Amino acid sequence: MANLFEYDSDREKQSAARAKALEALLITKGIITDKTVDQVLDFFETRMGPFNGAKIVARAWMDPDFKQKLVEDTPAAIEELGLGDFMAGAEGEHMRAVANEPGVHNIIICTLCSCYPWPVLGLPPYWYKDPAFRSRAAREPRAVLKEFGVDVPEEVHVKLWDSSAQIRWFVIPERPEGTEGMSEEELAALVTPESMMGVALAKAA
Ligand code: FE
Repeated sequence: MANLFEYDSDREKQSAARAKALEALLITKGIITDKTVDQVLDFFETRMGPFNGAKIVARAWMDPDFKQKLVEDTPAAIEELGLGDFMAGAEGEHMRAVANEPGVHNIIICTLCSCYPWPVLGLPPYWYKDPAFRSRAAREPRAVLKEFGVDVPEEVHVKLWDSSAQIRWFVIPERPEGTEGMSEEELAALVTPESMMGVALAKAA
């Protein structure tokens, strides 16, 4: 993705220093404790992340009825899986799934800011929030997809879904060929966050 965006090489270092300074200030002022940030990080590492989306997609690949429900009433379908109450919480109130199929490739963006279905995908990667990605994906999705390594044939329709505070989209990628005998758990391991954003295809390992 190096050709998509240009950042200073010490960008990560600068961000880390800024976050550390902010954390120290918030602790000094008694707004958070020294455990708060660790707890938030732990939550996003172990409970709210793309592993939830992967389980949901794997179930949809195994069960066509579930897949249909997932597209028609996303929160109700997700609730069936019992992944946790937080699935309907922050940034998960209005999630909608769209399915890739032969002839249709879906991609999600947020043209305004960075709306993203946190419970199924975790926190958005930095490039999702980048003005260059947001504007270019809307203007020339095929060119952007190509830079991500997804060559969408001319005859395949590209559908762009613009997330907002009202609806947060995610993609059910197509089940890769050669995965017929796989278990749901094995299938889930093939589902990447990028494939649920529409900037990659799910691939058999
Ligand atoms: Fe947004």
